Amino acid sequence: MKMRILLALSLLCPPLVAHAFDVANYQVIDLSHSYGEKTLYWPTSPSAFQKQELANGVTDEGYFYSAYAVCTPEHGGTHIDAPVHFSKGGRSTEQLVLESLMAPAVVIDVTEKAAADRNYRLSVADVEAFEKAHGAIAAGSVVLMRTNWSQRWSDALDYFGDDTAGDASNLTFPGFGADATRLLVQERKVGMLGIDTASVDHGPSQDFIVHQIGAAEGVPNLENLTNLAELPETGSVIVALPMKVEGGSGGPVRVVALIPR
Ligand SMILES: [Zn+2]
Repeated sequence: MKMRILLALSLLCPPLVAHAFDVANYQVIDLSHSYGEKTLYWPTSPSAFQKQELANGVTDEGYFYSAYAVCTPEHGGTHIDAPVHFSKGGRSTEQLVLESLMAPAVVIDVTEKAAADRNYRLSVADVEAFEKAHGAIAAGSVVLMRTNWSQRWSDALDYFGDDTAGDASNLTFPGFGADATRLLVQERKVGMLGIDTASVDHGPSQDFIVHQIGAAEGVPNLENLTNLAELPETGSVIVALPMKVEGGSGGPVRVVALIPR
């Protein structure tokens, strides 16, 4: 009798099933460089990553304890640009819309063009060719521009094209083009741009027009990404969560991609 009651109960209340989201169903790719002594910063950055030891050893009480103080300019290493970085009144880091930081990604591969031209800029034709093959880029998507520049990390001369400290006037590396950016953020209404170089604007840019166009639409950027070669052109989901700094213009971000197995 007891067994029958238990059986009836188990039918009424089935054991907890796995949640709809099970990370085991995904391959997880790390798209962030780690922070350390070799982390690259913009040539005019007044400082780089600093890690100060506060404790590292066995305490008087007999247990091990380590702790550090870290300090970094916001826009070095793998980081996010909040819209306020280039748009007065735009959202700051803690105001970023979480949904825009967790979204389906598309990867536009311009590796060959970037290898032939260090200053290559993503064109409208590149976006149209991608869409011809994969369909229209959906609103809210994260558009990742793949150049394979991450292979040059963290050789400052190779990555930036010039490693003169304090001088950012001779940089050479690929980025988004202005017209392609307008198409993506104004017409397609994508949620975020990302790239595996130091900036969504290509090296020679002095007006940072791509930053301006994106920020005006409230679109954050991910810069200095890595491992984009691991991603399919469509089908992955990006999660990019920066530290929640009040009034920040962006900052270090751990970016991961989830690819359904
Ligand atoms: Zn930035």
